[in-house]
Amino acid sequence: MSALLIRGGVLYPADAAARVVPGGAVLIEDRKVVAAGPLAEVEAAITPRRRAGLRTIEADDRMILPGFVNAHWHEMFAMRFPFKGALRPASDRDDRPVFMAMGGDVPQISVAFDTFHDHIDRLTPDEALAIARYSMWTQLRSGVTALGDVGSLNQPRALAQAARDLGMRCTVSTWAADAVCAPGDGHHTRTRDTDLELQRIEELLKECAADPGGLVRAWPTAVYGTNMTDELAFGLAELTARYDVPFATHVGALRHEAEVMLAYYGATPVRRFAEAGLLSERFMAVHCGFADPGERALLIDAGAHISHSPAKYGQTGESTISETRMIPEFRRAGLDVSVSTDGAALPVGGMPEAMRAVWQHYNEMYADPTEVLPTDALAMATRLPARGLDLGEHIGSLEPGKQADLLLVRTDDWRYLLNPRPLEGFLSLGGSMDIDTVIVAGRILIEDGHSTRLDEEVLEAEYLEALSSFTVRCLGVPAETVRARLARRAETLHRRRRAVAAQRNGRRQSS
Ligand SMILES: [Zn+2]
Repeated sequence: MSALLIRGGVLYPADAAARVVPGGAVLIEDRKVVAAGPLAEVEAAITPRRRAGLRTIEADDRMILPGFVNAHWHEMFAMRFPFKGALRPASDRDDRPVFMAMGGDVPQISVAFDTFHDHIDRLTPDEALAIARYSMWTQLRSGVTALGDVGSLNQPRALAQAARDLGMRCTVSTWAADAVCAPGDGHHTRTRDTDLELQRIEELLKECAADPGGLVRAWPTAVYGTNMTDELAFGLAELTARYDVPFATHVGALRHEAEVMLAYYGATPVRRFAEAGLLSERFMAVHCGFADPGERALLIDAGAHISHSPAKYGQTGESTISETRMIPEFRRAGLDVSVSTDGAALPVGGMPEAMRAVWQHYNEMYADPTEVLPTDALAMATRLPARGLDLGEHIGSLEPGKQADLLLVRTDDWRYLLNPRPLEGFLSLGGSMDIDTVIVAGRILIEDGHSTRLDEEVLEAEYLEALSSFTVRCLGVPAETVRARLARRAETLHRRRRAVAAQRNGRRQSS
């Protein structure tokens, strides 16, 4: 592969010094960053051998960022019809707070999570792959170059294959759950064979350790303490130690979580993970806005990683930021707090939206605009989550020797006029749709906002076909209802194609 030079506007390498480099550049060779910094410095690294065949991207109208690392995500696009999805009425006026709202109906959530487990095996391999590819494309298109799967309503092998097809990174996992806290029971019920759950993740850990392209990895995760017996927790801890990998789980997500866990398992959530031996600096606590003082001390002493999804909570009624203020306090206590998107049937906030939320909410909370600077928000979306996934040596910042995962974002319109800080402008008025170019391991995967290697219309058509067959066959939605919703989309695409063709004809006639 020949060397690639990107001459940009402002470069944000997201390194430990949080450098900001106007007139910055990046030199890439053999999938890796050779140099990143002021243009003159980078040009000095262009040896005569590199100059022969050197490709250059002139990007002085764009800023350069490392690729976003979304360490807490779920592939859920198979649920796009029933689960807060396409079947809803157009009007939002009759919406009611349910499920995760008002502190959370934790037994109900536990039942839903148990049901999700059954759906995974009902997907055919073709459906699983088509859904994974489309869903993961929406992430890649939004600037995410590395995903951390914390349990998906999809098959991990489909996610792994989709990552290879798309050329992006993914740390895959299983939907590990072997129990349920049924409403009114007061004691948990085992729903699945624990050994089988452990066997599933162990097979995946073995397979991914030998991934030839280096894009796919695996880690053990637990969906939620409510759906995990003590035996499963101990088994996951054993695998985490034996395979020397990080571990992630949702924990301390809801106000009512601790009382339900205490009643159904006899211990509060963080303590259960601690007792199983899972608490360490490789423990990724997802959400974690609720913990008692003892649990808080356990997390801080262990140096746990906190993954926060601030752009998503308002849409579900979760309240992890203002109700306890605990997550910003964890950050002040020195823990790594990173941002992530979480997952949902419909696309939820992407990483730029999560960065904006953390920048605005934490600063508002402390009445201090320097609590989270834009460059801090960037680190929380790149370098810190890479460390949480144990990929910090390879990705997460633009430094010599690291993999060349980076983004170009246009900064030449009215939003950036007279602002010497394009990252600030981007957090104020930009978003996922402004990502112009996405490069993973030196390969250009998205250019001018579009895929360079896959036909986006085909991706979407294959997804919708897989979605409708799964929805009708497994979720009990009438075929006629599904057809009616998809027909509207087909009309839109048809109209768009005709408009593009008319434009082309017009150009041909005028030339
Ligand atoms: Zn989640």
